[in-house]
Amino acid sequence: MFLEPDLNHTVNANAQVGWIEVVCGSMFSGKTEELIRRVRRALIAKQEVSIFKPLIDTRYDKEKVVSHNKNAVRSIPVNSAKDILIHSHKAQVVAIDEAQFFDKDLPDVCQILANQGKRVIVAGLDMDFEGKPFGWTPHLLAIAEFITKVHAICVKCGSIASYSYRLTASKERVLLGEKEAYEPRCRQCFYKDKKKEAQVYTNGHTTKHS
Ligand code: ZN
Repeated sequence: MFLEPDLNHTVNANAQVGWIEVVCGSMFSGKTEELIRRVRRALIAKQEVSIFKPLIDTRYDKEKVVSHNKNAVRSIPVNSAKDILIHSHKAQVVAIDEAQFFDKDLPDVCQILANQGKRVIVAGLDMDFEGKPFGWTPHLLAIAEFITKVHAICVKCGSIASYSYRLTASKERVLLGEKEAYEPRCRQCFYKDKKKEAQVYTNGHTTKHS
């Protein structure tokens, strides 16, 4: 469990110290629940919190960060990462969900906010359905002070799952509102079925059968 850093131990306790936290993982790993847990703790402490998600994510409710267990907190849908800056002036804590769907400005926006002394909490998928790094999440992992990788449970064998296996044939990277089209899988069960689609060599190169 992530616990907020003890800022009383910083050199100047009165200084506003900002940082970036990333919560990443596969689908069904509880990323949004973890984001909401952190937001709720901040709200209980009467901190000013702003929550954002990309407008592209139209599942469920347009104005809430909604996780799969319906544990919702009201949020602002934005068209672009830069729009977060416009709505964050008063915030001490800025929470951003579905980071993988934001544009290339997201890492810079997070840096600006953290450098202003804000706590920035970002949640997102770290890998796409092919097991490849997704969007700007990998970049955020590099610049974050704190990283939490959460896991789902493999539906095939019950191991720890960090992959989102797509059950449909679509090759579109973004397949929204179709969570039944995915299942969480461990490394072994993910690549076992990937092998049926493509021949995977041990050196990491993938050759598609045509
Ligand atoms: Zn498995």
